[in-house]
Amino acid sequence: MERITASLTVFVAVVFLTGCGPAAKQGQFERFIEAHVEKVEPLTKEANLVYWDAATTGKTEDYKRFSELQLEISRLYNNPQDFAFIKGIKESGRIKNVRLARQLDKLYYAYLPNQVPPELLEEIVGLDGSIQEKYSSFRGSIDGKKVTMSDIYNILTTEKDCRKRELAWKASKQVGNVVVDDLIKLVKLRNEAARKVGFENYHTLTIVAGRQNVKDLDRIFDELCELTTEPFTRMKNELDIILADSYGIATGDLMPWHYHDPFFQRTPLVYDQDLDLYYKDKDVRELAEKYYAGVGLPVNDILAKSDLYDREGKYPHAFSHDIDRQGDVRILCNLQNTERWMETILHELGHAIYSKYHDRNEPWLLREPAHSFTTEAIAMFFGRLSRNAAWMQEMLDLSDEERMEIEEVSRKYLRFQQVLFARWALVMYNFEKQLYADPDQDLNNLWWQLVEKYQLIKRPPGPVDAGWASKLHFTSAPCYYHNYMMGELLASQLHHRIVYKIFQLKSDRDVSYVGDKILGDYLREKVLGPGALYRWNDMIKRATGEPLTPKYFVEQFVK
Ligand SMILES: [Zn+2]
Repeated sequence: MERITASLTVFVAVVFLTGCGPAAKQGQFERFIEAHVEKVEPLTKEANLVYWDAATTGKTEDYKRFSELQLEISRLYNNPQDFAFIKGIKESGRIKNVRLARQLDKLYYAYLPNQVPPELLEEIVGLDGSIQEKYSSFRGSIDGKKVTMSDIYNILTTEKDCRKRELAWKASKQVGNVVVDDLIKLVKLRNEAARKVGFENYHTLTIVAGRQNVKDLDRIFDELCELTTEPFTRMKNELDIILADSYGIATGDLMPWHYHDPFFQRTPLVYDQDLDLYYKDKDVRELAEKYYAGVGLPVNDILAKSDLYDREGKYPHAFSHDIDRQGDVRILCNLQNTERWMETILHELGHAIYSKYHDRNEPWLLREPAHSFTTEAIAMFFGRLSRNAAWMQEMLDLSDEERMEIEEVSRKYLRFQQVLFARWALVMYNFEKQLYADPDQDLNNLWWQLVEKYQLIKRPPGPVDAGWASKLHFTSAPCYYHNYMMGELLASQLHHRIVYKIFQLKSDRDVSYVGDKILGDYLREKVLGPGALYRWNDMIKRATGEPLTPKYFVEQFVK
């Protein structure tokens, strides 16, 4: 660490001595970028390779080495002299070249949140780590007996006895009461750090450093709320009748523990549908490879380097990993021939092609997605195909009857899931915003006000506790949740553009996206190739003709 800081300091001192006209400023900045990338590129590649080893083997020493490298990278961005230099260049307004201006913007917002006294950063990282450790080791209990989260999910999805459900639901929330004091302390520390760099609170800083702004997000989420209130109320009333009936109670007696998921963020599987049936004799890897080749975005090189099947010690979920921004992209999965894993491999390969097809003539700093939610959008766009009846018919050779069967249930389920997720994201977004604005307010009541308002779920009788704090995202991915929803909105906006403007169709009913090279060409040119060259909303305007809007999500899933 010392070595890197010292050499960068010397470098900055040298560039400050040379001239001050626009050309000189640009030259200084170009040399700064060159020196910066020379340090950060090999470190990033090494960290990515070590993380890949850690995830595929589960070895503690790999995870440890990865944290060390991460710390080394974060220290690069903590350097106050470098930041002063970047800030000076930014404030001079002299960088007119589009590529340099974008790199300046990216560097500025990478350094900014790190300009905090190292002791404060360490305290934040330490507290964050200790809360996560408490999370992992805590087990809730039912009648004094310890239970795991899978026990709880089993009860919530199958148990008919309401008292057992209530106890299981409460067990899922117990960890919230254990960590809530530390979490509020962490929120205050994060706010203190944000104020050190000139922001009113950490929520605002995170949004701004992610190059979004609170006003735009408020507008998008208000619109989403307005457009989903009526359909959500209708779908939820239907669901309530089915659920109340299954427990033999009145709909008025439904409580939060009757909804199959601790936070009601997933639709209860009350509509029978076994899509796995169609995938069990197929090979989802082969299907994905064939599909992507068909749209002109071949993934055989990605799959060859990937780690696709279950193994002892291996990371149990899935992710896509850009190792070097030079085409070495890999995915990790634990494939089985089921609908869920069909969706997952399509989703992860969506992330992977985004990385693979960044234009390699662009500078290293711009060979990234425009925003984390834009790569989520591409992944969701392709992931949604696994239960699309037209896609399934073509890829799995299904009959017209089979297709119709799937269509009926799948559409209803997909719509409900999307609208439900939007309402849940409204709770998360609004709660977190208010949590950071005033961490001393009555948060437990605030939580239930929002749940009642957006999810139409009744609060349990009696005083409410800090069950909300059992949502790990408040600790491990703060102020990020809205990006999942933005990804869904963009996936629908791209879908609309392609169907109605590029394919020039009147309806998306028969769109399977199978074998459509035009789809691949469009995405490469407008989304994948430019990488981070344009700010996310400029990229979206160029790709779809308008800024991000909830309109098309609503058109696809709500109307
Ligand atoms: Zn994803």
